Amino acid sequence: AISVSGLNKWYGSYHALRDIDLTVEPGERIVVCGPSGSGKSTLIRCLNRLEDHQSGSIVVNGTPLTDDLKNLSAVRREVGMVFQHFNLFPHLTVLENCALPQILARGTRRAEAEARARRYLERVRIPEQSAKFPGQLSGGQQQRVAIARALCMEPKVMLFDEPTSALDPEMIKEVLETMIALADDGMTMIVVTHEMGFARRVADRVIFMDAGQIVEQAPPEDFFGNPHHARTREFLEQIV
Ligand code: ATP
Ligand code: MG
Repeated sequence: AISVSGLNKWYGSYHALRDIDLTVEPGERIVVCGPSGSGKSTLIRCLNRLEDHQSGSIVVNGTPLTDDLKNLSAVRREVGMVFQHFNLFPHLTVLENCALPQILARGTRRAEAEARARRYLERVRIPEQSAKFPGQLSGGQQQRVAIARALCMEPKVMLFDEPTSALDPEMIKEVLETMIALADDGMTMIVVTHEMGFARRVADRVIFMDAGQIVEQAPPEDFFGNPHHARTREFLEQIV
């Protein structure tokens, strides 16, 4: 489980996250939405300490996120992350993109790392692309490689930051289908996205952020059917 309590984050004097409380149980699927600059990326980046925070606590599967490097590597082992712009290594093949992090971060033997890479590339349905370089793939295929790469670390939680927003419409679907399959397998997921069809289909809870705060959170049927806050309603009118 992830437990965030009284979290505050400043960038210099800018107060980016304000008193965030959030609990995510194993197997839960959370969708986070909200206007640009509301702190969505900052929040999920804090969860694996790509950003540090100044007050409050974040506990991931029993390990508090602090400056303690041992704790940090324990948490990073359990939390996978997928970014908007894929962040694949351009000079490595697809297979190597998936195998090398296991070898470097875990000391996994090469044969085992490659076998696992092939298994997850199959799972995201692009085993035939494994010898190519990222630049030779479509955006949707690259994002599926990024998902496979994260899964190769066998995380307990997956964080997604707008995984489809850099993709052409025809590629969005294949990535969302991959994510739906992952959800159906029971993965704990926190997904920043404005794909509200995905939210309705997959989310246990939708969280709306504005100005660094969680303004509203509810199961999708309530969130979309009966939003309580004016800001949530305004936001939904703009995007749906
Ligand atoms: P978007 O939908 O555009 O991705 P977001 O909700 O993910 O927006 P964040 O990226 O979390 O928003 O940013 C929240 C606020 O913090 C913004 O005002 C942003 O300008 C500011 N911010 C983000 N990163 C930094 C940084 N490294 N240094 C200073 N300010 C930052
Ligand atoms: Mg963002």
